[in-house]
Amino acid sequence: MSYVNEVYEMLQKKHPYEAEFLEAAKRILDSLTPIVDANEDLYRRNALLERFVEPERIVSFRVPWTDDQGKNHVNLGYRVQFNSAIGPYKGGLRFHPTVNQSILKFLGMEQILKNSLTGLPIGGGKGGADFDPHGRSDAEVMRFCQSFMTELYKYIGKDVDVPAGDIGVGGREVAYLYGQYKRITNLYEGVLTGKGLSFGGSLARPEATGYGLIYITEEMLRAAGEELKGKSVVVSGSGNVAQYAIQKAQERGALVLSCSDSDGFIYDPDGIKLDLLFEIKQKRRGRIREYAEKAPRSEYHAGEKPWSVKCDIALPCATQNEINGEDAKKLLKNGCTVVAEGANMPSDEEAIDAYLAAKILYMPAKAANAGGVAVSALEMSQNSERLSWSFEEVDSRLKDIMVNIYRNVSAASEKYAHKGNFVIGANVAGFEKVAAAMLAQGLV
Ligand code: GLU
Repeated sequence: MSYVNEVYEMLQKKHPYEAEFLEAAKRILDSLTPIVDANEDLYRRNALLERFVEPERIVSFRVPWTDDQGKNHVNLGYRVQFNSAIGPYKGGLRFHPTVNQSILKFLGMEQILKNSLTGLPIGGGKGGADFDPHGRSDAEVMRFCQSFMTELYKYIGKDVDVPAGDIGVGGREVAYLYGQYKRITNLYEGVLTGKGLSFGGSLARPEATGYGLIYITEEMLRAAGEELKGKSVVVSGSGNVAQYAIQKAQERGALVLSCSDSDGFIYDPDGIKLDLLFEIKQKRRGRIREYAEKAPRSEYHAGEKPWSVKCDIALPCATQNEINGEDAKKLLKNGCTVVAEGANMPSDEEAIDAYLAAKILYMPAKAANAGGVAVSALEMSQNSERLSWSFEEVDSRLKDIMVNIYRNVSAASEKYAHKGNFVIGANVAGFEKVAAAMLAQGLV
């Protein structure tokens, strides 16, 4: 049996209940086959894959907190410290009712490779809690964050593990978490990224994931002799990633037709009005159905996803597995020729198979949405030197990083598969550096 399959079978036996993690690990391991085959003896001797698939450490803990009515709750909190071969653990915290250890391990494994692709010294980690911030007051969110950090602070630090935001964790949550860390440890250090500008945050961090997604999409189009200008774009999601992807795509002359939340999607034939979206999402933390009440020609489609809207480019920016095989077929049938992922693992396996079979331009999440964590690493640099860089400086570094990611992914696709298979390209390009560091550091 091949080394990759042996390791996968071992994982299945050890973690039979972790469906999401097993799915992600299988996809990643399968795509690493070309590089594993080429180095099989070396990797086997060093138990490289057996180590790569197991987190260095997982902490899980209870998070007790009291709501505004005086009722007590207990949530589950986690931090998966997956791989520190190339730098301190780095990755977001997700607060969402679906959070469990399996999902965080899947996201953590993706993060190892994504962070490696940025070319910056950051290892892979992920964490969060099964807490739902929706409908909770600021005071409740603050108490939850304080309780969460009262346990988590023991395991993190600016040179150890640097969490950030993810779904359900934005500027407000990062700020409360930071305040509590500082209070407990008496340290003013860059232990979290995505902080506010008045306490060590980086300019362009909120924009980074969405902008980075557009920069890499442009690079992919440029290599194919095309440009973003004049293209129709379907975006899902309406959080931070979607908002700034829409902004940058519009700046580049694309027509963005949609955005969505978990209740439904908005179709606006005139192009999404960003001011209105910002007002609903950033000012009021509202639902996107309100958009249709204010934009007369737009339509709200309750309970649906936007994949049946005819477009040239699809940018899924909501959550994992939001495009299945059927959705992918609809996109392809309607003439979509580019998919770039702002969310983490938004396309399921059948969808990816459909893109690859149709030979469209498909950039997987770990490359396409790496701009967010890349600017997080730049925030760490700024915190270490106790300086802050201008928006232009951060943005121009982000652009360079995304262009480099494209080139490395494309080169690896050519070397290990065929040019244009960015699934294999991204996994192998990310894995190469981590594997080299793990081998050099011995059996740890
Ligand atoms: N949650 C983001 C991601 O999936 C950002 C992580 C970070 O900035 O550390 O990459």
